[in-house]
Amino acid sequence: LALLTSFLSVVVVVAAGQLRPLPAAGLPRDLFGQGFAPRLRTDRNSTARASTDFGRMVTAAPEAVLRPATPADVAALIRFSASSPAPFPVAPRGQGHSWRGQALAPGGVVVDMSALGRGRRRERINVSSSAEGEPPYVDAGGEQLWADVLRAALAHGLAPRVWTDYIRLTVGGTLSNAGIGGQAFRHGPQIANVDELDVVTGTGDMVTCSKDTNSDLFFGALGGLGQFGVITRARIRLERAPKRVRWVRLAYTDVVTFTKDQEFLISNQAGDGEVVAFDYVEGQVQLNRSLVEGPKSTPFFSATDLSRLAELAAMSGSAAIYFIEGAMYYTEDDTTTFVDQKMEALLEQLSFEPGHVFTKDVTYVQFLDRVREEERALQSVGAWEVPHPWLNLFVPRSRILDFDNGVFKALLKDANPAGIILMYPMNKGKWDDRMTAVTPAGDDVFYAVSLLWSAFSAEDVHRLERGNKAVLEFCVQEGIGCKQYLPHHTSQDGWQQHFGAKWSRIAELKAKYDPHALLSPGQRIFPKPA
Ligand code: FAD
Repeated sequence: LALLTSFLSVVVVVAAGQLRPLPAAGLPRDLFGQGFAPRLRTDRNSTARASTDFGRMVTAAPEAVLRPATPADVAALIRFSASSPAPFPVAPRGQGHSWRGQALAPGGVVVDMSALGRGRRRERINVSSSAEGEPPYVDAGGEQLWADVLRAALAHGLAPRVWTDYIRLTVGGTLSNAGIGGQAFRHGPQIANVDELDVVTGTGDMVTCSKDTNSDLFFGALGGLGQFGVITRARIRLERAPKRVRWVRLAYTDVVTFTKDQEFLISNQAGDGEVVAFDYVEGQVQLNRSLVEGPKSTPFFSATDLSRLAELAAMSGSAAIYFIEGAMYYTEDDTTTFVDQKMEALLEQLSFEPGHVFTKDVTYVQFLDRVREEERALQSVGAWEVPHPWLNLFVPRSRILDFDNGVFKALLKDANPAGIILMYPMNKGKWDDRMTAVTPAGDDVFYAVSLLWSAFSAEDVHRLERGNKAVLEFCVQEGIGCKQYLPHHTSQDGWQQHFGAKWSRIAELKAKYDPHALLSPGQRIFPKPA
């Protein structure tokens, strides 16, 4: 029987001159008679590809994959499900760069968003650079990669203001979370840099929304984890693009000095008179054992750099080395001497370990696309397509030293997991609390702490998962008030706590815009109504 079903699922029949897939077991038969049916795939290859994600921690197959030609196809699919006696789940999939199955649709239909842009990039990314008195913006399809948005904007000398570290993510995927990176301290997350959206709601309506029009949907969809609609277009603010980037990493052995300098840097806003500032501020934590036993060189650090850092760690007796990662943008009109002077003036105000400044000078595109190089390096040794039990937290500033003490200096003290740890502060005032994304209560600054692990065996997965659980439990026990970013909760209680005061509004928006709870079920926030 299993053989027969698998055979049936790959067979296509010719109907009315078009290839039509055979109905998949759990979907209504008349779905396959709809206008978009030729773009539904039920073959094993298509469903298998949509059954897992970057994290490789979860698998669940959809019954079919839709490769939409237009947003209207997405709307028709959702309308069909919403009006059918047994509505089925629908999940837009950007690039599937989630890690807990958030873009899966078990037993339903995954919408392969990339199909919207295939061969139509010119139509789906439109830069507006010259409207009178209006700041420049780009209208980009929700399926577009940020790397492609960058390329299109650069043709006009422009670029979006805020970037994730990795830019082969989709516009709709990061806007459904928040989209954070080293520029967010100044401009807020990507969701705070959007002026308008086109959204297909869970009832199949195509709605244009902004701060002033259909504003509940606009604020709901930004950071909305795909719960209220599918973003098919976003209007993203642009700024004049720099040409080059002076990129530094500064080593610290003491967390107090490290965080003090980071917080100084994010309070330093360019444009404040003569203030010299970084345009990008992030940070990393390197556990001692991983310095000694980890890779002997990285795309940023040479073997010599790493052995100097290992010596520094050994001499200091510190459990970890911390790096501030800063970047200063410049244009071709700036002379190198001018950039050197600006950098020197800024570094003079910081207290990193003397002599431990590591500098690169790269093009703007090389800087923004830097993780691509790491991706290639990992792919070449088979270390990219492995399970990723990642944990991302927002930690309030007032408790970051407790977090450091309990996590890096205790729980992870003797650990040597493969992966990297990011730790950098952001200004809460740059976030718009009307949006669905959540940040910790209280403090005006919070830290993003990302434990970005790679697992090479089932034992690794279990060990890292146990470690993540211990970190979360530590935060609860100590009342640290962390919020997960790219959150994963397994019970509705967990989600209610996550959203806190926003929960009732989120439940109302869900009832209004996705009453059958069809959309992005892999987030596991709302069960299917009985
Ligand atoms: P998917 O994983 O495909 O989808 C994510 C969720 O959004 C799913 O629930 C999906 O159903 C839903 N969704 C997808 N498209 C749409 C749409 N058009 N409309 C509505 N809902 C939609 N994040 C950061 O903020 N900063 C970083 O620096 C950063 N670095 C990363 C580096 C790497 C190597 C990786 C793998 C991820 C990184 N991320 C980062 C996380 C990234 O933002 C998330 O994975 C995000 O989900 C985007 O991935 P995606 O576009 O492939 O979306």
